Amino acid sequence: MEIREYARPKSMDEAMHLIHEEHGTAIGGSAWLRTNTKTVMLGVDLSDLGLEYIREFQDHIEIGAMTTYRELETSLLLASRFGKIFSTAVGHIVGIQLRSIITVGGTVAGRYGFSDLNTTLCALGARVVFYPNIEEDLASFIEKGYAGPFLIEKIILPSSARAAYQQMRISENDFPIINTAVAWMGTEWRVAAGSRPAAARLCRNAMKILADSANPSNEQIEAAAQESSKELQFGSDIRASATYRQKILPVLVRRALLEVRG
Ligand SMILES: Cc1cc2nc3c(=O)[nH]c(=O)nc-3n(C[C@H](O)[C@H](O)[C@H](O)COP(=O)(O)OP(=O)(O)OC[C@H]3O[C@@H](n4cnc5c(N)ncnc54)[C@H](O)[C@@H]3O)c2cc1C
Repeated sequence: MEIREYARPKSMDEAMHLIHEEHGTAIGGSAWLRTNTKTVMLGVDLSDLGLEYIREFQDHIEIGAMTTYRELETSLLLASRFGKIFSTAVGHIVGIQLRSIITVGGTVAGRYGFSDLNTTLCALGARVVFYPNIEEDLASFIEKGYAGPFLIEKIILPSSARAAYQQMRISENDFPIINTAVAWMGTEWRVAAGSRPAAARLCRNAMKILADSANPSNEQIEAAAQESSKELQFGSDIRASATYRQKILPVLVRRALLEVRG
């Protein structure tokens, strides 16, 4: 990657101006951007905007866009509110050096099909906040994108959930073949699947089968797991065929649901 001009704005207004009016490219951890061979005419480094935080409020948790995977993985606050789902979902990615660089904002913005984190955030009912203060359901953003240039400020999570993440990959350092995250939110179940190889989607029919019981029966869990593989579309790539992905997903959904239900 070549950057022709580099800016390090000190305020969100300045960053937004550079991205919106000057066609600048936001730079998060730049781990993904730097794998690209294209020339960036104006790189807008978000490092000085104070977006690296995980904060608890009365009824929700906020994660700044520049928060790294390493911070998610080691956060005592997230572990106390969501169990080990964040460390399970991101703690195996490549190595600590990379996880200390890659950001939540860069991941959500990229809407990557292979993402472990985006599947997790979809299941947790996360919302994404675009500057200035435009809030949207994260699952819907992953599905539909955003019209025009945008700057992600933060992610909003509910205050707690019982949740689990499951994935299958050929080797530890490869992208997942298929992944899923499930969460009991206190009043409803959420089930998401990603790396199909397309990006994460909610399994709405499976969620309906589980209904509003914290203790779904084994039959409900089996039916929801099977439904998850019927309601989504799967594709083939160098890692796996569509058929293989479709066969593996129900196994992972069942395991994740059993982990949460106990
Ligand atoms: C070698 C390698 C291996 C990886 N393996 C995995 C893996 O196994 N599983 C997995 O889930 N992920 C993996 N990833 C992806 C990683 O988890 C991140 O999703 C990815 O690197 C993007 O984060 P970043 O901070 O590097 O973003 P950047 O490279 O900085 O940015 C990525 C994109 O997002 C935009 N952007 C960044 N921040 C913002 C913002 N705040 N607002 C608006 N737009 C923004 C940028 O303009 C760019 O288009 C891997 C990445 C690398 C480099």
